[in-house]
Amino acid sequence: MSEFDTKLVHGKPQNDNNTGAVNVPIYNSSTYIYPSVDANVLYDYARSGNPTRNYLEEQMAMLEDGYKGFAFSSGSAAIHAVLAIFKPGDHLIIGKEIYGGTFRIINQFFKRWKIEFTAVDTQDPTAVEEAIRSNTKAIYFESFTNPLLHVTSVKAISKVAQKHHLLTIVDNTFLSPYLQRPLDLGGDIVVHSATKYLSGHSDVIAGIAVAKNKELAERIYFNQNSIGSTLSPEDSNLVRRGIQTLAVRMDRHLSNAKEIVEFLQKRPEIAKIYYPGIKGSKDFEIAKDEADGFGGIVSFELKEGLDSTKFVEGTNLIQLAVSLGAVESLIELPYKMTHAELSTEEQLKAGITHQLVRLSVGIEDPKDLIADLAQSLDKLN
Ligand SMILES: *Cc1c(COP(=O)(O)O)cnc(C)c1O
Repeated sequence: MSEFDTKLVHGKPQNDNNTGAVNVPIYNSSTYIYPSVDANVLYDYARSGNPTRNYLEEQMAMLEDGYKGFAFSSGSAAIHAVLAIFKPGDHLIIGKEIYGGTFRIINQFFKRWKIEFTAVDTQDPTAVEEAIRSNTKAIYFESFTNPLLHVTSVKAISKVAQKHHLLTIVDNTFLSPYLQRPLDLGGDIVVHSATKYLSGHSDVIAGIAVAKNKELAERIYFNQNSIGSTLSPEDSNLVRRGIQTLAVRMDRHLSNAKEIVEFLQKRPEIAKIYYPGIKGSKDFEIAKDEADGFGGIVSFELKEGLDSTKFVEGTNLIQLAVSLGAVESLIELPYKMTHAELSTEEQLKAGITHQLVRLSVGIEDPKDLIADLAQSLDKLN
């Protein structure tokens, strides 16, 4: 069982299966019997360990090529548990375009606990190196950013990190291990919102962290077990099941995104398209080298004067909603929805204009998606 797509379907062989069931059971047990008071039991209490959750955790460790995986009740909980391995006085360098919720945990939570942060454009390894201080402990970034799809080189940043004995932490939500395995490129910890591509059906909120080595795994496990934001057995099963179809879903996300980009390139209403698969940018060069595809998110700007609200409200098949990475296509206006927390000034500085639209391309027939976009564009003229 060496090919990645086969691993997605079969996961880890099970060692407790006496029934012939092809899937791991959903173990709804909060506690476990001790054969004797001093028995060295595998499981004692489900916050500390649950076989359904552990199956998913091992599946993710295998797919990300890490030492150990951890499943959390959300991507945000996974990020919290990972950042909580640091201590007051530590300094972290973070990508300047990170998920809004991550920015919120950093600014409104971890800063209160006296962890220091500097936001840097991680596409520029020199800028990252210049931001390193004597108390810097890690560099945290998303290899494809949201919503502008700027691509950071995991290889280049982890090289800087290794030189200065820092950890490299990568949020791999936008790519999934099918398209990129940051630990193989030099990263130390990977985090995911499993709510997105890993589960893939908009039916669960979940998070994953994978550590490259035992020492990091122990520090994350301590936080997972003591803070307790673990994933339930039912939700662990949903993510496990989603992962089995990751390859076929992702292949269709990629081919649909490519067709939609080609369609948008021909439309006069479009001012600019953000997609790493478009040749000629630094994003394309890095993605071509370090990822096995350009992802399923396409962002674009409508020309000045066209009504962006009317456009996103005018699609019929494509639903107006936040979130991404699911089988159904979702469209949104970042300045009013996902990135509404930023002030207008911060939005414009980050390149989030009022004309910017983010599309999470689903796995529907591309002809229907293109027809839906076309009819909504037509109504703007
Ligand atoms: C959604 C998302 C998160 C947060 O995950 P939740 O499951 O919503 O808590 C973190 N990072 C990225 C890149 C995301 O898209």
